[in-house]
Amino acid sequence: MTHNTQINEDAILNTLKTVFGFSTFRPNQEEIIKNILSRRDVFAVMPTGGGKSLCYQLPAKLMRGTTVVISPLISLMKDQVDAARGNGICAAYMNSSLGHQEVSDIYRMLKGNKIEILYIAPERFAMPNFLETLKTVPISLFAIDEAHCISEWGHDFRPDYLSLSIISKMFPDVPIAAFTATATRNVEEDICRKLGLGSASPLRRAPFMIRASFNRPNLFYQVEGKSKVESQILKFLSSRDGQPGIIYRTTRDSVAEMADFLVSKGISALPYHAGLSPEVRDKNQDAFNRDEVSVIVATIAFGMGIDKSNVRFVVHADLPKNIEGYYQETGRAGRDGEPAHCLLFFSRGDIPRIRYFIDQIDNDAERSVVLEKLNEIIGFASHDVCRRKQLLGYFEEEFQTENCGNCDICCGPVERFDITKDAQIVMSAISRTEQRFGITHIVDIMTGADTKRIRTFQHDRIKTYGVGRDKDKRHWRSIIDELLAQGAIRQEGYPYPVLIITQKGSAVLYGKEQITVLKREEPKGNLPEKGSISNQYDAVLFEKLRHLRKKIAEEGQVPPFIIFSDKTLHEMCRYYPADLSEMRKISGVGDAKIKQYGDAFVCDIKGYLMANPGISVPSRQSAGSDRPEASPPREKNRGE
Ligand code: ADP
Ligand code: ZN
Repeated sequence: MTHNTQINEDAILNTLKTVFGFSTFRPNQEEIIKNILSRRDVFAVMPTGGGKSLCYQLPAKLMRGTTVVISPLISLMKDQVDAARGNGICAAYMNSSLGHQEVSDIYRMLKGNKIEILYIAPERFAMPNFLETLKTVPISLFAIDEAHCISEWGHDFRPDYLSLSIISKMFPDVPIAAFTATATRNVEEDICRKLGLGSASPLRRAPFMIRASFNRPNLFYQVEGKSKVESQILKFLSSRDGQPGIIYRTTRDSVAEMADFLVSKGISALPYHAGLSPEVRDKNQDAFNRDEVSVIVATIAFGMGIDKSNVRFVVHADLPKNIEGYYQETGRAGRDGEPAHCLLFFSRGDIPRIRYFIDQIDNDAERSVVLEKLNEIIGFASHDVCRRKQLLGYFEEEFQTENCGNCDICCGPVERFDITKDAQIVMSAISRTEQRFGITHIVDIMTGADTKRIRTFQHDRIKTYGVGRDKDKRHWRSIIDELLAQGAIRQEGYPYPVLIITQKGSAVLYGKEQITVLKREEPKGNLPEKGSISNQYDAVLFEKLRHLRKKIAEEGQVPPFIIFSDKTLHEMCRYYPADLSEMRKISGVGDAKIKQYGDAFVCDIKGYLMANPGISVPSRQSAGSDRPEASPPREKNRGE
């Protein structure tokens, strides 16, 4: 077998444009592709939405033979194949959902060299039959998706993946490219060792290793105080009518209640949790995938099998257990690179509940790790530090920019207020009742409420009773929240947590230290989402094109984002391509898409322009060039 090791730059760029419709690479894609084309093993850690699939799909178009992609989720394979076919790639899949006849059809095509990309589930590698066939056909590349599944140290170990270690031995001269979105250094080494990357044969060189930044510049991070979360979410949704998004809740009950509530308010929403039957779950996920329902309310059981690229927001209505989970769940937003909003509702009240579950962990070491992780996410939510900087710092990545321009901390104007006096009132009430009461009772004491509890304990006789009467309960609750956030007091006990004064709190109580808060202007319902380059588009036309996309998707029985991504539609709604050659310049429009959908979209756009003669169509700065993927935050938008 001879291999063409010559890397032809023109061919790469040409394929990028004609097959995928893109003019520029995302970070790291080009290096990865060039290394694969030079037949070197690759290990790449890239965040969700980083564009991993293009890294093996593009070489698959250029190399002789079949690229075999190993992917753990059978539920996603069909979508992946549909997406590849949509770009004119000869793709197929083989997994346990196929019948005997279908499998033999694929074998025949494989032998006839008719398949450019074959998606398979890992268990195939334990089947001698399959391996024998594979031996007889030219293979250009093995691409391993979700490679962390091979490591017991990772969070998603799948025993089936272990059989993949056979690849480097059985196919010593076929390159392997392993991809994952989550791998610590330890897991990374483990994956490379198990896959035998760069080691099994003298032909193999050390793998090309790449660790992309985990920064997701198009995601806006926001934390909001949680009080009446239902109405807070309703308010948030009111400004994003019809946009697809996920709302995470911790328990099945709260998922069901929230979904019912939203539906009762006229919002198109469905629930998803492990208590629903697999059929219902699949149905609901499918409806979401196909843009038939806007909002999915879910426990963290939802997400693994989702590669919908146009999720425009992810809301956490309850405090997540740790930052990894939070990063992963929010990571499902904005895979298409368009602006998306991540909103976390944070209340100290959520902490005791999680602590209670942590207390049930028997193993001391494990318990303290889990507790530490909880403290880290609490820190994330309560510190006045750029959310992006904190998230990336958690993954040991230093975010250099002073102001990320795309989180609530960096976008809100801030001012400092001294709250020492109010803090002293709160802590004096706590201290005079011997640190044996919870928030509600302490607030009742300060505001001079007349409750049975107060009479029983004769708390109307203590010195602090009623001294905070001039301010309302909400004020005192927010002071308590702030003291908790700053560690001046803490909550202990479940289900009836009491307030305890910490060392830091004592210092404030006795006037040795001051305590201040940052007051920020409340970010508006639909925040500016700076750092986004593409939030200016014709929304009316977008709705029209979205409708057309959905119709085409229904006919072809595929999810709409496979036809065109939101990003592609947005671009159409900025440049109004009214003929095929203009359409070709839109990012995400390759030859196959032009052929299949070009006319339909051009027709709608032309009709729209005709009906709206006042619209002035902007000219492109340079024909055919994409706008930059990640422009620096706060950069002036391109001339619209
Ligand atoms: P991952 O698997 O890393 O989460 P995907 O491969 O699903 O990411 O890609 C995410 C999105 O980015 C897709 O909509 C894809 O079409 C788009 N994309 C990939 N590469 C590029 C590129 N070079 N330019 C523009 N969009 C891209
Ligand atoms: Zn920031």
